[in-house]
Amino acid sequence: MSRVYNFSAGPAVLPEEVLREAAEEMLDYRGTGMSVMEMSHRSKAFEEIITTAEQDLRDLMGIPDNYRVLFLQGGASQQFAMIPMNLMKNRVADYIVTGQWAKKAAKEAEKYGKVNRIASSEDKTFSYIPDCSDLPVSEDADYVYICENNTIYGTKFKTLPNTKGKTLVADVSSCFLSEPVDVTKYGVIYGGVQKNIGPAGVVIVIIREDLITEDVLPGTPTMLTYKTHADAGSLYNTPPAYGIYICGKVFKWIKAMGGLEAMKERNEKKAKVLYDFLDQSKLFKGTVVKEDRSLMNVPFVTGDADLDAKFVKEAKEAGLENLKGHRSVGGMRASIYNAMPYEGVVALVDFMKKFEEENL
Ligand SMILES: *Cc1c(COP(=O)(O)O)cnc(C)c1O
Repeated sequence: MSRVYNFSAGPAVLPEEVLREAAEEMLDYRGTGMSVMEMSHRSKAFEEIITTAEQDLRDLMGIPDNYRVLFLQGGASQQFAMIPMNLMKNRVADYIVTGQWAKKAAKEAEKYGKVNRIASSEDKTFSYIPDCSDLPVSEDADYVYICENNTIYGTKFKTLPNTKGKTLVADVSSCFLSEPVDVTKYGVIYGGVQKNIGPAGVVIVIIREDLITEDVLPGTPTMLTYKTHADAGSLYNTPPAYGIYICGKVFKWIKAMGGLEAMKERNEKKAKVLYDFLDQSKLFKGTVVKEDRSLMNVPFVTGDADLDAKFVKEAKEAGLENLKGHRSVGGMRASIYNAMPYEGVVALVDFMKKFEEENL
């Protein structure tokens, strides 16, 4: 068996320890005589899995008691609709558009109400985060929406926008658990777990209790009403049980690594190796402004599409996989999530140095 360094943006690398543990428990989960995939979601064993997972996530993020944690399905994309359906009481919302995911979310919300795009960085192909300290937040906005880490473009909000008292809703799919977070600043924090936490199929929603109501837009399906899932402890119907089980193991792994402070340190150390190299390279260059660089997704280019393709191909041959940039931007992108070891980033930089010498 040999594992590669997987720089995929998602589904993405998971901690090897977690995969080994899951493999050991595959046929017989802790004396139950069955796999977690085969057990009832109403069983005692699964009840313990989901309550432990929730508690560990609460511990890691310091989630206050007045927030609920929901394990849902439909990916992050389903939240693009679920958020307006549940939160658009006045049918008005403000969106800050810093990439494709926020753009898609804004477009979806338009099906349900008036969407004001109060800031955008599309003028410079989303290579920066706009100044959000004094935006024209709408008087009657039900919420202000951001995508906190832009997976495709590699930018991140280093300071949250001033929402002037309005509820902040954030898609954190690609920066979930990458650093400490003050949950009280948000009304809703959500993310698909396949970027930084677990297998595709689970989306975690952390939502302040007062935002969970029966007063949703007419026609909102039962399954798309937060209250349905909050009242049922995420067990209204069959949840993505195996995915939740793996997420739980990743929470334990992060705890054992020292929690979110330790994750942040580790992620900063990894990102620095790559950004420092890019800043002095004569062949490669980063594509976003320094102040807004993501710790998780690092896009870079040579400026020559053929050379980019050659790089991706040769990197793959060297065991460095999935470095091709998103189809909408081209070039390269290294996603260096929590589970990417430091050694993986060093191996990438060593390879880039060698490629630069051979191709400059
Ligand atoms: C990947 C991604 C999405 C889409 O996730 P799905 O689970 O495929 O719907 C949305 N937002 C961000 C920030 C992402 O990185």
